[in-house]
Amino acid sequence: KSGFISIIGRPNVGKSTFLNRVIGQKIAIMSDKPQTTRNKIQGVLTLDDTQMVFIDTPGIHKPKHKLGDFMMKVAQNTLKEVDLILFMVNAEEGFGRGEEFILEKFQTINTPIFLVINKIDQIHPDELLPLIESYKEKYPFKEIVPISALEGNNVERLLEQIKVYL
Ligand code: GDP
Ligand code: MG
Repeated sequence: KSGFISIIGRPNVGKSTFLNRVIGQKIAIMSDKPQTTRNKIQGVLTLDDTQMVFIDTPGIHKPKHKLGDFMMKVAQNTLKEVDLILFMVNAEEGFGRGEEFILEKFQTINTPIFLVINKIDQIHPDELLPLIESYKEKYPFKEIVPISALEGNNVERLLEQIKVYL
């Protein structure tokens, strides 16, 4: 099995930390070179029977006036072409305007989307279930997966769930 996975989410939600954890420091740093007009491969994870190609979708979280029509098209086409989208949010901060903006974009694509709630180490366990329930109302996510990219909680499980969609 192999497939392309786009990780999106606003700055600081933990995208690079997640990639570093699953792929390794070296590759994630290499790919941090600025490359704004096309999608970049951030890393490739090769497991026994599966290859996951993680790609960046630059600027999708930015409002249209900041991004420009061309970039917005590129970003949206990418989302249509990948096998799976990981939409990462911060457990502490939840949905802001940036997230609502991305949700609108999701309405026009058929690609399966996982909501990845990162930084669960920063919230009380009792807060998690209500959080998940509130996100279920926002969009028909295929999966809602709470993780801590920093501490590694649930990351293996997320990879298993990704496999199913490749
Ligand atoms: P990106 O901009 O989405 O790539 O976010 P980064 O991966 O650069 O992470 C931004 C900050 O959040 C860094 O200081 C990370 O150490 C921190 N961070 C990322 N994941 C977690 C997590 O699961 N828990 C906590 N507590 N901090 C995290
Ligand atoms: Mg980053």
